[in-house]
Amino acid sequence: MPLTLTHDVLLKERTTLRLGGPALAEAVVSCEAGLDELAKLLHGLGGRPLALGAGSNILATDGPHALVLVRAANNAAPSFHAQPNAMSPEATPGATPGATPDTVIVRAGAGMGLPRLLGHCQRAGLTGLEGLTGVPGRVGGGVAMNAGSYGVELCRLLSRVRLWTPESGLVWRDAHDCAFGYRRFDPQLGSGLGAGFWVVWEAEFALRADESPAVRRRMETAYARKKATQPVTARSAGCVFKNPAGLTAGMSAGRLLDEVGLKGRRLGGMSFSPLHANFLINEGGGTAAEALELMEYGRAMVFDRFSLNLETEVKVLS
Ligand SMILES: Cc1cc2nc3c(=O)[nH]c(=O)nc-3n(C[C@H](O)[C@H](O)[C@H](O)COP(=O)(O)OP(=O)(O)OC[C@H]3O[C@@H](n4cnc5c(N)ncnc54)[C@H](O)[C@@H]3O)c2cc1C
Repeated sequence: MPLTLTHDVLLKERTTLRLGGPALAEAVVSCEAGLDELAKLLHGLGGRPLALGAGSNILATDGPHALVLVRAANNAAPSFHAQPNAMSPEATPGATPGATPDTVIVRAGAGMGLPRLLGHCQRAGLTGLEGLTGVPGRVGGGVAMNAGSYGVELCRLLSRVRLWTPESGLVWRDAHDCAFGYRRFDPQLGSGLGAGFWVVWEAEFALRADESPAVRRRMETAYARKKATQPVTARSAGCVFKNPAGLTAGMSAGRLLDEVGLKGRRLGGMSFSPLHANFLINEGGGTAAEALELMEYGRAMVFDRFSLNLETEVKVLS
């Protein structure tokens, strides 16, 4: 089925924090023909379209939400392409900046889970993504959030991204025509391409060849580090606050929350993780109101003590 449409979908069944009330509808699109169908349907469904991946960075309130969730389900195995003319990328229009002879372009669908993509790259002997081991999002959400971990930022490896808009369909965009920053990606679509709603449909990453066992070892190291310091298997949405800019080395939003005593602080069914204070955990039966109250409390405590404003990283759907 190119497109599957479901009405009255509960966000708590689509998000890793397991919170959120009903959205108007969900369109799961598995191929390009499904995008054509979606373009015809979208307006009539009412509400606002929202691209959704694994829902691993979303805090949704009880709603109801006037949203149509658009979920890319193109998750076939990635394809690998040698970088053309990688010897002299500067002299070759379209070549990836910084590409070397061992650069390989990996093309993946937005619906593919990041863990699966990393597994394919490891088996193919490609290095670059290892730091993202344990990040549970999908390729589309990873690009949209510019996911990053242990020195790796997804958009720094991005060479091209294929975007879909209801007005213009699919279009490839070079990474150097897009803007990105800390947990931020902006494809900088002109008004002609539909500056409003866009979906990441495919992405290409420039990775380098390496020994597969060496890639595996780095993934294992990254995962062990993550597991020791973050509640990777709990119901969470990752870090709720961004790290404020200009912090001294070793400081982070999590450390600031820890310093004001919030590790393990609980309200109803929600708590700041005892392992990492920047992760809110749904212990079971938690509510979005409790999550938001804890966040406001944390923000106020950190501001009182350090005069620093914690900016929200998790996407709040209210
Ligand atoms: C245990 C845990 C650990 C985590 N660790 C990290 C970490 O180390 N580093 C890090 O950066 N993040 C981390 N995260 C957060 C999260 O996994 C990342 O932000 C991830 O990139 C989100 O991907 P997703 O597919 O779940 O996106 P979603 O949560 O579904 O969506 C997030 C945002 O991206 C948009 N979006 C999603 N898919 C698309 C698409 N196809 N096209 C356009 N926009 C889209 C959504 O509209 C929304 O604004 C962690 C989360 C958890 C639960």
